[in-house]
Amino acid sequence: MLDKVVIANRGEIALRILRACRELGIKTVAVHSTADQNLMHVRLADESVCIGPASAQASYLNIPAIISAAEITDAVAIHPGYGFLAENADFAEQVERSGFTFIGPKPETIRLMGDKVSAIAAMKRAGVPCVPGSDGPLGDNDKENLAMAKRIAYPIIIKASGGGGGRGMRVVREEKDLLKAIQLTKSEARAAFNNDMVYMEKFLETPRHIEIQVLADSHGNAIHLGERDCSMQRRHQKVVEEAPAPGITEQMRRFIGERCVAACKELNYRGAGTFEFLYEKGEFYFIEMNTRVQVEHPVSELISGVDIIKEQLRIAEGQPLSFKQEDIHLKGHAIECRINAEDPETSMPSPGTIERYHAPGGPGVRIDSHIYASYKVPPHYDSMIGKLITYGETREVAMSRMQMALEELVIDGIKTNIDLQRKILADANFQKGGTNIHYLENAILNQ
Ligand code: ADP
Repeated sequence: MLDKVVIANRGEIALRILRACRELGIKTVAVHSTADQNLMHVRLADESVCIGPASAQASYLNIPAIISAAEITDAVAIHPGYGFLAENADFAEQVERSGFTFIGPKPETIRLMGDKVSAIAAMKRAGVPCVPGSDGPLGDNDKENLAMAKRIAYPIIIKASGGGGGRGMRVVREEKDLLKAIQLTKSEARAAFNNDMVYMEKFLETPRHIEIQVLADSHGNAIHLGERDCSMQRRHQKVVEEAPAPGITEQMRRFIGERCVAACKELNYRGAGTFEFLYEKGEFYFIEMNTRVQVEHPVSELISGVDIIKEQLRIAEGQPLSFKQEDIHLKGHAIECRINAEDPETSMPSPGTIERYHAPGGPGVRIDSHIYASYKVPPHYDSMIGKLITYGETREVAMSRMQMALEELVIDGIKTNIDLQRKILADANFQKGGTNIHYLENAILNQ
């Protein structure tokens, strides 16, 4: 049994993990930077350890400090949350080598999926549909690369195998630009990711972003919890997410879900994970797998009744999944709005002290947030300060509850994106459902 867990993260996800641990009777250790001693979960945790100065590099990314915190508190496991070290295979390896349980997949799985070329190859073996492309890294033969792009047909996109966070990609629309684009992406990738392997894919013009949530245990069982639509994005950052995705039929859900489950078995996957797809004209195209819990996991929890974080903890204890695929019945609709401390004009972070805070409530309203009145949002980390999530029997009910909740929500003292969220919820095409990944930037922010 997991007796005591170190939460190697901050903010809302650290609090979410703490709550799940509490429910299961697991003791918690909060590790935090000097800028974060007033975080809500630090106050609530059984123990807390300061692991370094404000800079994430010196604290939340400081592997020896986190492992030492686990050692001095006699913890048995480490939950990485999302971001920071969550997809760092070296961290997972060092955690396990130091005798602790890493709450996530095996290090080799993280490494495999972190390299996009090898991830795509693994997906193809499992029968997961991928974007038509180069089937591996691009070589140095210009003639071959030109012929390949012609075969795939322009526009194409050159992507770095080691890329992440929306970096290391370049769209090419005409043959004359191809060779230069390959060279540029390679040198950027070498500088940014220390890996100049690049590959080529068909560029999809107006896709939606649809992803599948999976859970797998260490006994060979795997299930999926259906899909989420995360197409409402600004600079590749998700802003609103929902489940299920508008217009996806039960038959399509089963088709793509079963392939993701097959891929989990092929990979010997363990823990929670997400297969991300672009979706265009009725077809799914795999782009990457996230080997961790995601920000938007609550919308899947609300429609499936499964607590994803508690399942992560149970899986890490070595327990089998507590249900089978046929026990999962998706019901109703859930929407999540990310609440960011940011300037509404520029979307630049806007840290500072929250003077007044009023949280909405009522049927079907959930808030995952660590903020409180007088809390000072530090300038050193991601600007997301919480998530407002609503549930309803239908998408209409979930949307109307979200509109009410956004009206009730008050966060004063700092700038936030609450007005932008109200605008999105009031948008006729969002209300219809099924807008593509460019819609927020092209239609809503451009008004
Ligand atoms: P990262 O790991 O940097 O997030 P992804 O492979 O997930 O990289 O791609 C990030 C985003 O780039 C996608 O959400 C999509 O908006 C865009 N993108 C990536 N590949 C393609 C493609 N083949 N066609 C169109 N857009 C793409």
